[in-house]
Parts: sequence; C-alpha cells; structure tokens
Amino acid sequence: MIRPGQPTPGAVGRAGPGAHEDLADPGDLGRRQRHELWMRRALEVAVTGPAASVGADAVDDIPVGAVLYGPDGSELAIGRNERELSGDPTAHAEVLALRRGAERVGRWRLDGCTLVVTLEPCTMCAGALVLARISTVVFGAWEPKTGAAGSLWDVLRDRRLNHRPEVYGGVLETETAAVLRAFFR
Ligand SMILES: [Zn+2]
Repeated sequence: MIRPGQPTPGAVGRAGPGAHEDLADPGDLGRRQRHELWMRRALEVAVTGPAASVGADAVDDIPVGAVLYGPDGSELAIGRNERELSGDPTAHAEVLALRRGAERVGRWRLDGCTLVVTLEPCTMCAGALVLARISTVVFGAWEPKTGAAGSLWDVLRDRRLNHRPEVYGGVLETETAAVLRAFFR
C-alpha cells in the first residue's frame, strides 16, 4: 500500500526527488552540456511549439515541451502540451513526441532514444516512456503535485519493472520553472 508522501516501494534508495542531474557523475561534463543544450530546445518547443502557433486557443495550454532524440543524438520528434487545443486528456508533450517519433522510425520500441521534457513527467507519461523502452529521460522542473519521476511516485525507476530508463532531473531547473510560473501568473 502506497501512502502519499511515501517512496514508491522498490524506488531506488530514498523518498522525494529522484535522480537529480546534480547528483549524477559530475565528471561527465559532456553529458551535462548535452542535456542542457537539449533542454533549451525543449524550452523553445514549450514556448513556440506547433500548438502555440496554431491559434489563440493554444495560449490556454500549459507550456510544456518535449523533444525525442535518437541514439545518434538526432532530433526525431517534438511535442507540446495540446490538451486544451485538441480537447484530448492524453495530449501531453511526452506522449505526442513518442507517437510522432515511433511513427517516424516505424516501430513502437524506442530503445537507445532520449526523451527530454521541460517538466517532470506525470504517471501517464512515465508509463508511456517505460512502454516505449526509452533509454534516457531528461526533465527540467520538478512537479511536486503530480510528478512520477521522483516527486510523488518514481514510476521510471521502480525496481519491480523490468525496463527502467536512466533519469536526469532538474536540468535547467530555474529556466524551465520560470516558463511555467510566467504562464500561471
Ligand atoms: Zn504527462
């Protein structure tokens, strides 16, 4: 039985925020720089992504952006939260990027790929990332109310699941949180 505020059984080590980029190998500067570069692209998608340019309706959508990168680091697909625009409760940035990426490569299995998103994934998106066999998940701001990558749950690193992506959270945390704060102001 999982109670609010308790770590997910099988979660790695501790309660609360999971794998923070700051806690990962500090010697791997290349990784950190790559993640920050990719996060800037995801921020760009959050602010100016496909939905944002479609019409006035789009301004109602919370600006969350996601980018899917292939094993070679090439950009495969992007997604921006389009829940209001499309009236679809599942139209989160991550799900849209996964769908488009899978369509592009012609298979559902996206192992070797990295999904970069500006906000900690929810339970639905964390589940979808596991199902897609994504190898690495990089996210920006923590979401203490609904986050499923260490905040409220740790679906991505639950040891009971046989596929667990590498997770790096809090990448460009200040910038990604600022975009969301500006929206809600
Ligand atoms: Zn989601």
